[in-house]
Amino acid sequence: FDQQPLAFAYAALEPSIDTITMDIHYNKHAAAYSKNVKEAAIAEKVDMTKPLEDVLYKISAYSTKMRNNAGGHYNHELFWKCLTPTTNLPTGKLLAAIEKDFGSLDALQKQVTEAAKNRFGSGWAWLIVTGDKKLIVSSTPNQDNPLMDIAETKGFPLFGLDVWEHAYYLKYQNRRADYIENFWKVLNWNYVNERFNSL
Ligand code: MN
Repeated sequence: FDQQPLAFAYAALEPSIDTITMDIHYNKHAAAYSKNVKEAAIAEKVDMTKPLEDVLYKISAYSTKMRNNAGGHYNHELFWKCLTPTTNLPTGKLLAAIEKDFGSLDALQKQVTEAAKNRFGSGWAWLIVTGDKKLIVSSTPNQDNPLMDIAETKGFPLFGLDVWEHAYYLKYQNRRADYIENFWKVLNWNYVNERFNSL
């Protein structure tokens, strides 16, 4: 429920993600989700010593405030860990699964790019692992995510791409496609590998 420290400096992802966007995104937008999910947890008697995921799995039982902020907090904590100044690539079991389920890394990137470009308004594009261990691309509106019982497509998120305007507007304005293209340069595949190998 608490924000974890960023593993890199605000300027570290330049020029793909600019310093001011990182600062405001982490310290204002994401900080608010963390503050508000804790408020909702107190109001709705959620045990904050238990994993946030327990709330997400049953999110339909909680308020809209909980849905928006539990999702917002989880999604951003994941997003920061999926970013890195040091470009790297999927390897091992993850690369093999990508090649099996998409044909190639390039084909996977095209699907995520399309999902991210086509998300109308605010939301996220995801690479998820389904219950039958298949890798698929999905997208959610607002701060929903694939762990939630209300998600159209459910699964374990390996990485998420934030396509809210607050994630890119200062640098890219209306050019969401350019932001998405540059996201690939700062995606931390090493961490995505770790999440996949943890399953
Ligand atoms: Mn965001």
